[in-house]
Amino acid sequence: TARIIDGKALSKTLREGFKSRVSALLAQGVQPGLAVILVGENPASKVYVGNKVKACEEVGLRSFHLGLAADATEAEVLATIARLNEDPLVHGILVQLPLPPHIEPRHVLEAISVNKDVDGFHLYNVGGLVVGNTIFPPCTPYGVQLLLDTTGTDVAGKNVVVVGASNIVGKPMALMLLQREATVTICHARTRDLAQHTILADILIVAAGKPGLIVPQMVKQGAIVIDVGINRLADGRIVGDVDFAGVRDKASWITPVPGGVGPMTVTMLIENTLRSAERARHLRASDDYQDWEAPKRPP
Ligand code: NAD
Repeated sequence: TARIIDGKALSKTLREGFKSRVSALLAQGVQPGLAVILVGENPASKVYVGNKVKACEEVGLRSFHLGLAADATEAEVLATIARLNEDPLVHGILVQLPLPPHIEPRHVLEAISVNKDVDGFHLYNVGGLVVGNTIFPPCTPYGVQLLLDTTGTDVAGKNVVVVGASNIVGKPMALMLLQREATVTICHARTRDLAQHTILADILIVAAGKPGLIVPQMVKQGAIVIDVGINRLADGRIVGDVDFAGVRDKASWITPVPGGVGPMTVTMLIENTLRSAERARHLRASDDYQDWEAPKRPP
């Protein structure tokens, strides 16, 4: 039976480690700041924003929560971003997705200063990811990367199958692992015979948003299984995309939902915001991201 990859515990350790970095910045008169823009009243988005703001405060970051009405115009959103781009108290800017349909997300994401793009969604940072050199790795795949590191597995040469090809999870995840020289297969909703691919995976990463999508017959004996999915069932339970109880018997390592990838996403958002503040203070060279290797894993 698989060992559990405990994202909650790793997050806690990493967040403890952030405190000394915050202190070093405070000693220079800088409190790292994250601005979160939420347009409208999407209940799930509100929960996510609330979690991010709370986590920031727990490690000593300043957070700015900018709530815009659901009928705010694109120009209003862009004006808010322009102001935050210039604000020296703000080191990271995040726009909670999805945006209302009358706002074009690409216009908004491209308006964020590349130096404050802590979600890593600006085309410049996406392009950086493609060539293996990005300032801010997107938070969810970045968190998955660290979870994989805790297993002590070298991904080079491994068969990695990523189920899901979204811009925020599946695609950047695949690119990061390709950068580490894994053999990467990306599957999505149009993939024929998903099991034929997943069964070959030494490392299986699932981000489809479909509860119960991955059953034991689709998993290779001894595989590492990372479940990114977050699905709320009719009875209120939160589950991933993987049949956890069944797959646990076949895998060597597995992430639980909740308590796996979820907390890591917020942790990496804080990491990116700290990094941005450090860059702004030249505590880090601004060009030292040739290799954005994950921070050393905690002892
Ligand atoms: P999305 O809806 O943008 O993309 C889903 C992807 O899965 C698409 O590429 C789609 O083609 C593919 N897919 C859908 N059904 C499939 C099927 N039956 N077989 C194979 N592929 C299929 O979703 P997203 O934003 O990438 O999020 C995916 C899941 O991860 C959701 O459950 C979301 O809630 C969760 N999520 C979790 C975190 C976290 O912090 N843990 C962060 C982001 C997203």
